[in-house]
Amino acid sequence: MLGDALGAIRHGADVHLVRVQADVGPGFPRFTIVGLPDSSVSEAKARVRSAFHHAGLPFPKGRITLNLQPASLKKQGSWLDLAMAVAILRASATPPIPRDETVFVGELALDGTIVPQQGLSAIGLRMRDEGLSSLCVSADQSLPWPFDDMFQISRTSNLADVAVMLRQNQVRGVVSSSRSAKRVAEDRRAPLLCGHQVEQRLLAICAAGRHSLLLVGSPGVGKTTLADSLSYLLPDLTEEHALEVAAWQEITNPTYAFSLRPPVRRPHHSVSQRSLLGGGRFGMPGEATLAHHGVLLLDEMLEFSHAAINALREPMDTGVIECTVNGKLTRFPASFQLIATANPCPCGYRGYGDCSCAELDVRRYWMRCPGPILDRIDMVHHVNRQTNVGQRGDPLDTWAEKVRKARTLLQGGSSVLTNDAKHLLWRTCERLHASERDRAKVAALATTIAALDGRQEVSSPDIEEAIAWRRPGSLSPSRNAAT
Ligand SMILES: [Zn+2]
Repeated sequence: MLGDALGAIRHGADVHLVRVQADVGPGFPRFTIVGLPDSSVSEAKARVRSAFHHAGLPFPKGRITLNLQPASLKKQGSWLDLAMAVAILRASATPPIPRDETVFVGELALDGTIVPQQGLSAIGLRMRDEGLSSLCVSADQSLPWPFDDMFQISRTSNLADVAVMLRQNQVRGVVSSSRSAKRVAEDRRAPLLCGHQVEQRLLAICAAGRHSLLLVGSPGVGKTTLADSLSYLLPDLTEEHALEVAAWQEITNPTYAFSLRPPVRRPHHSVSQRSLLGGGRFGMPGEATLAHHGVLLLDEMLEFSHAAINALREPMDTGVIECTVNGKLTRFPASFQLIATANPCPCGYRGYGDCSCAELDVRRYWMRCPGPILDRIDMVHHVNRQTNVGQRGDPLDTWAEKVRKARTLLQGGSSVLTNDAKHLLWRTCERLHASERDRAKVAALATTIAALDGRQEVSSPDIEEAIAWRRPGSLSPSRNAAT
């Protein structure tokens, strides 16, 4: 007799649904698994057989053949144990158990207990793409809370209970007390530095439009704390984006706790190009992908290797990293917001105090950062000690609310530049010999500035402010720092 069940496997970042087909028939007792199982999948034979025995279920005596579809895909890990057991139960049951499209995920212990697995966020995204709505996991499985709304989740603690549920045709709809992580109001870590009004506005523009930012300043002036404060202003992610983030985070951190807060990654300056971009033999995501939908914070950007920084060009333009993993083209999403800090010169005090650096040394210092990367950064801000002692701005919560409203307005996508604004933008860019990129970035900044004030009409003062932040045609921090 034949039976089948849906399961899932994970290959690095990808989750694949696997249909397990079981053929149980008379003949010499033999248990065969075909369909490219690796040794961890083949070892399931011993786990499944023992689980049947200890769950008090009769294990078919004759010949058992399991086929894992698609047969061309290499199967690894223990996620398929439960689906294999269910396929055998369905193939050997009398009366027959009707088939359904529930996805079964769990490892079997020898005593028949279903062992929870780590990192199931990606399964949810895959099931949603495939239009599947029913999931069966261990009673102790922790799942992101949006799963409760997305799927019918059946939770069972052992194989005997699964057999009972299958016979009663109750897999779908049997929902035990949900163990999904409860939705909680997440505390945002209040920033240590609230900053001056000017800097709060800078961060708000940055947060509302996801603009990239370079903060230049002498050591101890507070540029790192300022960069950290940005995450406080960022609105929560949508559930879908948060699930995407969780799916990537779980690859490097299996105990990642699902969160709606955007991720903030701050790689050390000794990070290699591969660790920053991902790839390698196992196709692991890099820091840029772990910062997807969030912030990539490069503290002391000029200390990073030239090659590593230069490699960020592609994701900064397209939000995607393409690389070859085991001869196969792989795409890693990397839509991050770049926030970087840098000293103005090798000694760090140029423009802010005593600086003994020669002009040539300063130029050489800034040449560590590839020009195309500097050009792609939307805003450069010089942090002064004085700006931190001046008039304090609004409470950060007020800014966070403005940012949230501005994001909604920007997502509407119906902002327009007035004729005066267009004219001013054109004239200024001509005068400053600004590039097309400068022009586009000034327009985008001005649109964000208008949205922050609750307007969809982008006027001349917005363009003026955007130009002041962007400084088109003169984006050379060494020159700015010297003046
Ligand atoms: Zn110096």
